[in-house]
Amino acid sequence: MYDLILKGGRIYDGSGMPSFIGDVAISDGRIEEIGRIKASADRVLDIDGLAVAPGIVDFHTHFDAQLWWDGLASTSHEHGVTTVVTGNCGLTLAPCKPEGRDALIGTFVRVEAMPRETLKAGIPWEWTTHGEYLRALERKPLGLNVATLIGHCAVRQYVMSEAAVEREADDAEIAEMEELVRQGMAAGAFGFSTNSNQTHYREDGKPVASRFSSLKEIARLCRVVGESQRGLVQFTHGAFATPEHVALISQWYDTILQETRRPLIGESVRHRWGEPDLWRKQLNDVEERSRQGYAAYAMTSTRRSMRRWTLKDGNRLNIIPAWKKILLLPNEERAQKLRDPSVRQELAQATVEGEPIEFSRRWDLIIVRKAARAENQHHEGKSVEALARERGKSEIDAFLDLALEEDLATTFEDSTTQGDERAVKEIFSNPHVLLGQSDAGAHVASGNPGFGFATLMLAYWVRERKLMSLEDAIKKLTFLPASIFGIHDRGLLRRGMAADMFVFDPNTIDQGRPEQVNDLPEGAPRYIQHAKGIHYTIVNGSVLMKNGAHTGIFPGKVLRSC
Ligand SMILES: [Zn+2]
Repeated sequence: MYDLILKGGRIYDGSGMPSFIGDVAISDGRIEEIGRIKASADRVLDIDGLAVAPGIVDFHTHFDAQLWWDGLASTSHEHGVTTVVTGNCGLTLAPCKPEGRDALIGTFVRVEAMPRETLKAGIPWEWTTHGEYLRALERKPLGLNVATLIGHCAVRQYVMSEAAVEREADDAEIAEMEELVRQGMAAGAFGFSTNSNQTHYREDGKPVASRFSSLKEIARLCRVVGESQRGLVQFTHGAFATPEHVALISQWYDTILQETRRPLIGESVRHRWGEPDLWRKQLNDVEERSRQGYAAYAMTSTRRSMRRWTLKDGNRLNIIPAWKKILLLPNEERAQKLRDPSVRQELAQATVEGEPIEFSRRWDLIIVRKAARAENQHHEGKSVEALARERGKSEIDAFLDLALEEDLATTFEDSTTQGDERAVKEIFSNPHVLLGQSDAGAHVASGNPGFGFATLMLAYWVRERKLMSLEDAIKKLTFLPASIFGIHDRGLLRRGMAADMFVFDPNTIDQGRPEQVNDLPEGAPRYIQHAKGIHYTIVNGSVLMKNGAHTGIFPGKVLRSC
């Protein structure tokens, strides 16, 4: 007699092996059996026609604060996520002395764009050490499992107070920091995170504390992780760094890998039009380190950043001088010029030729997002290239004729990142690249929140664009991150593993549209995102979510690396 049986689903077990149809039996929070199961159970869920996969592991979140007022880590809990990792990018709320709290809040406010009043009201500060933070979190009702990293900024602030954002540490201070990392690892943290992003400042305008670290400090702190023989190092350094900074970071990566012999999650690899070949170089670097015998990893985002614009506000194409000249003219004159065949010829050429810029220079990637007139609504969703083909015109003519028909009020859309699908395919399928980088819990005012990174992956990149198989995508969202972080009893559907899983319809799973709500402590606004096509989410053997609704229980656990 089992607690729960899932009957007749298609099992994507997280290993990347071909899926198969079978039953899953669960007792005491663990998977007991997979296959054709004749035994009975207290509860049987008929999932015929649906898929079942290990729960999503969101390995790059900033839920450190949100979990204190929202144990569901909403709305990640709606997207099949069963484990979140907090403490990324050098930012944690522990260890922390009472006098250091404001400094840590100020770091989250600026780097992760969270409202100060929310953090002030929402964080209970029932801890000093990382171990106490974990124990306090254990007293909270949690919907999902939580694994933590130790943040460099918190460690530095603890030891150096305000000097943490002014200078390098001396030997005695580094020794004290080592002890804090040692304690955190002994308490069960899954590693250490640091941040040298040159655009990351505190609320008071000072660079975040970890940016003052010497290579020696980093090496010594990371060595502590190595000595524990558990966990990993996560290193944030940001895009568009100077060549000197990139060279420096490369040296730091090598040092960390040599000192720890643990996995390192470094580069954020994304295709960007402004640096269209950078992703290739980044992948080469990570592959080279792997050839040298190191567990080097990069991460990528499944989200594309898109921009919407019209030729009335014109800002987008102003990046090209030939367009700027025209788009800054008064409305009447602008429209007149845009009708002029010789001007059009010049614009057509300037659009597709020239230096790499933060723009694709491709008509097939400029989309008609919203028509201003009802009779043009059937063009919505088409690329300018498709529109041109349909109307039997050149792209520039199709583009400008439509815009002029609508008094330049047509809304177009184009991508700034992850817009080149050939590049995205190589990035996503590279075995050293983790899929996620959701930043969930942070950037609360962003209209493109990260909660749905996995549902987006399964809906858009797998189902619609067919960039990889569902088996491979599931593996990259579950087994791969769980293994790299050392969460060894999760991320796979196998006998003996923790029973974290979600049941979904591969034909309908999707992320919902971002919506603004005012549900943060003190009523501050944030964007949330619902999910579609997920029937059940099971955490530690208990049904957390049924058809998009929380069942009211909190089966999540604080995970420990030891
Ligand atoms: Zn981050």
